[in-house]
Amino acid sequence: MILPGGTIGVLGGGQLGRMMALAARRMGYRIVVLDPSPRCPTAQVADGVVVGALDDREAALHLAKQVDVITLDTEHVPAELLEELERHAPVRPNASVLRTIQDRQTQKQFLDRLGIPQAAWAPVGSDIELAGALARFGGRGVIKHRRAGYDGKGQMRVDKSDQLAAVTTWLRGTPAVMEAVVPFVREISAILARGISGEVRMYPIAENVHRRHILHTTRAPASMPPIAWQNAHDIANAIAEALGTVGVMAVEMFELETGELLVNEIAPRTHNSGHFTWGACATSQFEQHVRGICGLRLGDPRPLSGAVMVNLIGDLWTHGVPPSWRPVLDRPEAHLHLYGKDGAAPGRKMGHVLLVDDDTDRALATAEELIGALTPPVS
Ligand code: AMP
Repeated sequence: MILPGGTIGVLGGGQLGRMMALAARRMGYRIVVLDPSPRCPTAQVADGVVVGALDDREAALHLAKQVDVITLDTEHVPAELLEELERHAPVRPNASVLRTIQDRQTQKQFLDRLGIPQAAWAPVGSDIELAGALARFGGRGVIKHRRAGYDGKGQMRVDKSDQLAAVTTWLRGTPAVMEAVVPFVREISAILARGISGEVRMYPIAENVHRRHILHTTRAPASMPPIAWQNAHDIANAIAEALGTVGVMAVEMFELETGELLVNEIAPRTHNSGHFTWGACATSQFEQHVRGICGLRLGDPRPLSGAVMVNLIGDLWTHGVPPSWRPVLDRPEAHLHLYGKDGAAPGRKMGHVLLVDDDTDRALATAEELIGALTPPVS
């Protein structure tokens, strides 16, 4: 057990690391982060920063020697490097969890072995496999890079069977998978935490809306029947057990018209769709992750209120200048989170607003109203 006063190392210094660091430091832990930028969101609130790329072995070893436990802000740290770091400090979640998750094909094979429903898929490792996959899915599907994709990056939607040449050019030999297009009625996520003793705590199921492949809003709790809720919890629980993960984990799922759930993807870390837990639940996902990786008993995940989270993406900035935050700050139920990122690029997650309100229909309407007020006028 790592008690307050101990040091947590974080690989990757984005907003997830930053919010975890804020929770950890409140509890009395120290934070050292590895990131290519000394000004990254986590470094701004950390005790120490090691500057280096996430696959920089020397830099990662330098961090490992200063900390009591290592965790991750992103799943895109090479599993081989994590294995090496495990010789110096516990890595939670560990290298074997990351090895299963960070490659979409390995993740899909893992889910198939567990018998967990997911979209029909096929490997796309060569031109022959690509032609076979396009034929099998009638030319309609989503092609995704096996590694390093997020927020729709590394994804291509195909609609016509004659797109072989276009996909080949786009892929340029990058290994990928093809998925059937899922006719979902809703996207949800199950967020849970698993402790080192195996205890599991589930958050309320969250309901997500994406725009241009990027998470736009999360409503919690999701408006779905209790049976579907239970089903989502059971799926997430089975995945966490089989992986033996430690800390917070998110499972994104598609809900079909029949009520059936298909797993979209697994993230063995805190998650954008779990941001509502900070402000709307007794223990935030960030404190829960700290508790999990430090070997403490997990906190109470109980919801204290309904909530809606809306992401603030770089498109709201004008030539790097943020919008006026007055419309958000003027609302008592709204909580502004800004991540301290330098460059506001279109599609880049810069912050979020949490609306704490038991009437989540009203909160969703407020979220749209706020985004409307923050959107720069078309010039
Ligand atoms: P991902 O990065 O895989 O989570 O994909 C981002 C978003 O793209 C998802 O949340 C969905 O809205 C959409 N998407 C991804 N894969 C599929 C699919 N197979 N069928 C339909 N929509 C998808």
